[in-house]
Amino acid sequence: MLNLVLFGAPGSGKGTQSEKLIAEYGLHHISTGEVLRKHIKDGTELGKIADSYISKGQLIPDTLMIDILRHELEGIIGDSKGVIFDGFPRTVPQAHALDSMLAEMGHELHGVVGLEVPEDELKRRMIERGKQTGRADDNEETITNRLKVYHAQTEPLRAHYIGKKKYMQINGQGSVDDIFANIAKEIEKKTGTGREKQQ
Ligand code: ADP
Repeated sequence: MLNLVLFGAPGSGKGTQSEKLIAEYGLHHISTGEVLRKHIKDGTELGKIADSYISKGQLIPDTLMIDILRHELEGIIGDSKGVIFDGFPRTVPQAHALDSMLAEMGHELHGVVGLEVPEDELKRRMIERGKQTGRADDNEETITNRLKVYHAQTEPLRAHYIGKKKYMQINGQGSVDDIFANIAKEIEKKTGTGREKQQ
């Protein structure tokens, strides 16, 4: 198995690069943002709770988020080539929870792909995405708050994973294909997993 976290600020390109990782490595994708947006769209109880946080650019509380992740993971971990975690973990307690969940299930995390993009470019991308897709949290006020929350609560995970020698630093600016080529190179270096072997 190849279990990877795709890490980066909002707007860093996690969703775009996930699609390429799925296609090239046959991995399963868990995007916590997508799971939450589906609940909101379906009008579930969880969706109502999630919406009250997401619309303000805040994180969903850890205990709730960890339960959601466990549920998603249980459905797929047995019969997949590996998992891309996109948008999880976003806090240090979530990172610890991911480690213990994977260990309980007899698996481990192999690496963390860190997409690094300057702040003005992140803002530009999210405003553009808001215009193109109408995504509710891609408005100027919520974007500013999401970036604040990212620096305060999520960015510390970078040092956490560097300390664990799991972090792969990737320049998230450039063409989608060039960024992906760098990701593939780093994955091969870190885990020995090449693109062809997985296809
Ligand atoms: P982005 O990375 O562009 O912010 P996501 O789709 O990953 O987009 O997340 C959208 C929102 O969903 C976040 O701003 C947050 O409110 C909520 N969310 C997603 N994942 C998590 C998580 N792991 N913990 C807490 N909240 C989360």
